[in-house]
Amino acid sequence: MTMPTLFVSHGSPMTAIQETPAHQFMKRLAGLLPRPKAIVVVSAHFTTHQPAVVADPHPSMIYDFGGFPEALSRIVYPAPGDPDLARRVADLVTEAGLPVRIVPERGYDHGSWVPLSLIYPDATIPVVQLSIQPDRDTTHHYALGAALAALRHDDILVLATGAMTHNLMEVMRGGLRDIARPPEHWAVAFTDWIEAKAKAGAVDDLLRTMELAPDGVRAHPDDDHFLPFFVALGAAGPNAKGTRIHASIEYGSLAMDTYRFD
Ligand code: ZN
Repeated sequence: MTMPTLFVSHGSPMTAIQETPAHQFMKRLAGLLPRPKAIVVVSAHFTTHQPAVVADPHPSMIYDFGGFPEALSRIVYPAPGDPDLARRVADLVTEAGLPVRIVPERGYDHGSWVPLSLIYPDATIPVVQLSIQPDRDTTHHYALGAALAALRHDDILVLATGAMTHNLMEVMRGGLRDIARPPEHWAVAFTDWIEAKAKAGAVDDLLRTMELAPDGVRAHPDDDHFLPFFVALGAAGPNAKGTRIHASIEYGSLAMDTYRFD
């Protein structure tokens, strides 16, 4: 069976322990997919100038946040790495004409371990991390994903993790007390635009989201949390279509959408 690719909005680190709609959805998500034999995770929190692949056989943990409950810093996601798959990913990226380097050691950042610990809590499926390049555009990330398209036919899941909207000023402005406050119109308009384009397989429009979508810049003042979306889109192959399989908005403006691409 051909594996879909995924884009998951990981939200705040609290998603790991707070039973939000997105948390509950991630706990069900594995049941909606064929079981992968390995995972290539592409996190918004692993940023480099050139693509980097982690060949660490036993990645440790990175608690890359502050001001959150102590319980979060006790979570350990012990899934092994997969150095052979890391080399294969590096070869595929090279064959696509992109530069790449192999990193011997790196732990899981929260963009990776928050969704992984909910989706695959048994932590037995090996995970290889691939970085994003925040100084490069959507087209670069689409090409980076396209380089990995062959992996879908080998039961390997490409799991990209970022956020469907990510404007922390907007999140703070409403105060952090009310996670369930009503969604802002602009966040709904932006996420609905993405859904329509993804469903239609309108790759060229998606690549120009910042120009074409309503409130693109408000949704992503920096696009680092949006770039993984394009890796998942590219990795699903040239005629892929995206299905929004989860939608929720926290704090009125933080969209937690998940997409699968087939
Ligand atoms: Zn994040």
